[in-house]
Amino acid sequence: MDKRVYLCLAHMSGREQDFIREAFDTNWVVPLGPNVNAFEEELGAFLGGGKRVVALSAGTAAIHLGLVLLGVGPGDEVICQSFTFCASANPAVYLGATPVFVDSEPRSWNMDPELLEEAIRDRIARRGRKPKAIIPVHLYGMPADIDAICRVAERYGIPVLEDAAEALGSEFEGRKCGTFGALGALSFNGNKMITTSGGGALIVPDDETRRRAMFFATQAREPFPYYQHEQIGYNYRMSNICAGIGRGQMTVLDVHIAHHRRVHARYAAAFAGVPGITLADNPDSRWNSNFWLCTILVDPAVSGTTCEELRLRLDAEGVETRPLWKPMHLQPVYAGNPCYVNGTAERLFGRGLCLPAGPMVTDDDVDRIAACIRACVKSPVA
Ligand SMILES: *Cc1c(COP(=O)(O)O)cnc(C)c1O
Repeated sequence: MDKRVYLCLAHMSGREQDFIREAFDTNWVVPLGPNVNAFEEELGAFLGGGKRVVALSAGTAAIHLGLVLLGVGPGDEVICQSFTFCASANPAVYLGATPVFVDSEPRSWNMDPELLEEAIRDRIARRGRKPKAIIPVHLYGMPADIDAICRVAERYGIPVLEDAAEALGSEFEGRKCGTFGALGALSFNGNKMITTSGGGALIVPDDETRRRAMFFATQAREPFPYYQHEQIGYNYRMSNICAGIGRGQMTVLDVHIAHHRRVHARYAAAFAGVPGITLADNPDSRWNSNFWLCTILVDPAVSGTTCEELRLRLDAEGVETRPLWKPMHLQPVYAGNPCYVNGTAERLFGRGLCLPAGPMVTDDDVDRIAACIRACVKSPVA
């Protein structure tokens, strides 16, 4: 049998070990150092727009730290996208705040700007105060309608923290995801567009915000010769070893993104005209997804199959797939949270599947996966 095909395996450039060896040779085996500084510089240059970057231990830490910088605390509400991974919303709970979930719009699958405005109005009417932050997500690398979301946020004076964990390199109107909001979060977990074995970053607008982020990421230590603490901080900096992996990965970031897009184009050709199978695509020319994972919707009435049947068939063929994210407003842990729902996330959850798209996925793999899916489709019309 052929090798097993995974959703998004890590892929090394070969340069990673050079940067790690340099760290050992110079004894920078600590959570700061030349690799951390260089990795942050390189990410900042990649993102553009004059943004600064703070490298952290995880994407979840980046979202948590972002909410700290925005002053989120007990009793506050934070508007989160319901259709996402739990790490978009959990950090609000770490701070004693309450996630308020907003559903998606059907084109990008991300936060619906109109429903967002409805939610903000209703929260203000009910509580007499506005939510403290808004966390839209660029899910599977597909940019949210971030312009419209930021316009709504601006109207009510609420800061946006973009969850760009899956969207490194994705663009909306030619501008990189993660650079639209007041703050942005990236992830370098093992399965993301690039990896540091585990890590993340906070995207910030200026040096002063960067200084504050560093302060809270290093235990909020005040400038005294002894350890003086006047606020609660965290131990969230990235290690110089992990940043060495990140520097090696930066040399292949563009190659990875191009590969994900090529895989998407090959799926698109393979699924053209296949009844009941719809590959998610950029809604129009303003969107430019990195296609971190390629995703399909399966219409059982037209295709004669279901995404669960496809998942089991592909698994038997040695191909890893996964159902789309289960919406947060349907998660038991968030059962009592306020939510503003239009049915989109729930419909997507029941009907969609993530397909492999990582740098180890070959053209042959795509052809084999597509052939397996086509074989499951039983067109009702002869
Ligand atoms: C991976 C991910 C995160 C969290 O990143 P970690 O580095 O795993 O902590 C947050 N949000 C989304 C949408 C993610 O996919």
